[in-house]
Amino acid sequence: MNINKLEMNCIIYTIGDELLMGQTIDTNSAFIAQKLNPIGIKIMERRSIADDRKAILDAIAYGMQNHNVIIFTGGLGPTKDDITKKTIADFFNVPLIRHDKTFEHVKAFFEKRNRPFLDVNHYQADVPSNCEVLFNKAGTAPGMWIEHQGAILISLPGVPFEMEYLMEYEVIPRLKKRSKTPALIYSYIQTAGIGESFLAKNIEFIEEALPDYIKLSYLPNPYRVNLRLSTTQEYENDMLSFKNQMIQELGDAVYGESTNTIFEHFFNFLDHRKWLVSFAESCTGGFLVNEMTNISGASRILSESYVVYSEASKMDKLGVAKEIIDAHTVYSAECAEAMAIACLEKSKSHIAIASTGILEATKDQKPFAFIAIAIQGKVVSRKVDLFYGRNKNKETVAVVAIFEALKWFKKDF
Ligand code: AMP
Ligand code: MG
Repeated sequence: MNINKLEMNCIIYTIGDELLMGQTIDTNSAFIAQKLNPIGIKIMERRSIADDRKAILDAIAYGMQNHNVIIFTGGLGPTKDDITKKTIADFFNVPLIRHDKTFEHVKAFFEKRNRPFLDVNHYQADVPSNCEVLFNKAGTAPGMWIEHQGAILISLPGVPFEMEYLMEYEVIPRLKKRSKTPALIYSYIQTAGIGESFLAKNIEFIEEALPDYIKLSYLPNPYRVNLRLSTTQEYENDMLSFKNQMIQELGDAVYGESTNTIFEHFFNFLDHRKWLVSFAESCTGGFLVNEMTNISGASRILSESYVVYSEASKMDKLGVAKEIIDAHTVYSAECAEAMAIACLEKSKSHIAIASTGILEATKDQKPFAFIAIAIQGKVVSRKVDLFYGRNKNKETVAVVAIFEALKWFKKDF
């Protein structure tokens, strides 16, 4: 077996008719790519192919010729349509042989579930004789690792959690040992409120000075852009010094330096101070409280939440004065502020956040919203211009509200 360290270039093939028809969305190759990048393996191609003998044979040949790590997922089930394993064996002109440990495992798997252990299930334990088995504790289809003429071919099941298990515990540790390229380390700058191109313009002079061993990527989301810097261990200090220059330049637009969501940053702030938050949501329709309740520990910081969608409910449930609505409409800074103040008083929280607005364009009105934040009797608000469809607009309003709250925290608390 070739145990030299390799400069690794990888192709990922996902196998399955359902993937080609768009019935199943291919999430596997994204997961695999995300795991390989940090350990210095270059992803050269990602392709999807059919459960078809010729397609698989061609794929192996092409992969071996052009790259040295070939990863397959899918087509390892016990049913007739899954032919990956047999086709791999045929390609290398080797027989399928029984893998005893897998056989016992599959048998026990069926016994435990009181299900009959059929002949097709016996077949799960057969593998090409030239492979090393990647033992699949998460399911019944074993993974396979084959080394041939300086290339590594890996075949994994298509069931996402089985594939993920094998990647993490069997594939990554083996590839790490074999990869010549040092692992990459990452560092993040999370920004909001500046569009991608404007952001790029702001830090252009820093980006141009980046040496080629430090990479910068822009990862945009509604209202936010994350910057990701990456390099190898030996250049970590260089990378951090460029990162600090960027943070200086971007000032108030920076809200974090991790992979936490903006909602998690907000949660952490409240949790540290033992603060409670409440929401009075109109156009965000519960988006904010949903984001908060997705975070483990939410009960420590979340008091209550109102979804006050109609004009009447803003008055009845929160006590927003009719005069404010008559004078300024419900889509106004004044209404948002009144909602936030009322919510703060009713909930006895430390902070209350309100939203109100129009999510969709009408013939004479572009979508927009107002958010308001009340803390300890003080209130601020701002207008949010909206540019997307309903869902993304809703997310934008929620993100702006949280971003403004984080900025206020930084300044005054
Ligand atoms: P298979 O190993 O081809 O029998 O696939 C088993 C299950 O995993 C099926 O439900 C597939 O739809 C699913 N699956 C297969 N490949 C992928 C993929 N690339 N991304 C997400 N799910 C997949
Ligand atoms: Mg399949």
